[in-house]
Amino acid sequence: MRTKLTARVFALGVCVLLPLATASVSQAASSQAASFPTAVTPHDSVRVVYYEDTDAGDWQSDVATATAVWNSSVDDVKFVEADSEHQATVHLIATSGWPETSSDDPGSGTVELGEEAVSEGYSAPRITAHELGHILGLPDNYNGDCAALMSGHSAGTDCTNDHPDASEIANVEAIFADGFRLRMPAHVYRDDAATPSMLVHG
Ligand SMILES: [Zn+2]
Repeated sequence: MRTKLTARVFALGVCVLLPLATASVSQAASSQAASFPTAVTPHDSVRVVYYEDTDAGDWQSDVATATAVWNSSVDDVKFVEADSEHQATVHLIATSGWPETSSDDPGSGTVELGEEAVSEGYSAPRITAHELGHILGLPDNYNGDCAALMSGHSAGTDCTNDHPDASEIANVEAIFADGFRLRMPAHVYRDDAATPSMLVHG
């Protein structure tokens, strides 16, 4: 089992890294296609990520929307609400501050749904889908592109898009390919709009 797993890690690493190296040389002008592998083959297993939002207050409807968006967008990982038989690895809570997600590993972590961002005019469903993007292993990309989720607050308060773009979908599929989670360093993603750089390695 361990040998098989190691092989998968290696294969996935090659799968991820080679297109990156190629893309940086030949596709620099094509920002959407250049960042991650897009040739993800169909898989026969799916990673289920159980979540609970009992302390998410008014955000619960946004959580329902955002999990449905992700579930309809990606094939290799699905959000399912935790129950008595399935313990949550993702906890969503309402806070009075700015949104923030702490994740030790894709598919697990704590999402702080910060009311201050909504008070500033940012879309609650977009915020929720963005933070769940962190849970799925996506980093921030504050490039101002409203078509993307991980552009976050850089796209402005007029941006209400709550769907990932093709590149973000491909990244998540690569991370969860064949039901396997690509291991990553623990991260705290702080989405305070007053701070230009949010990525903190934990
Ligand atoms: Zn973020």
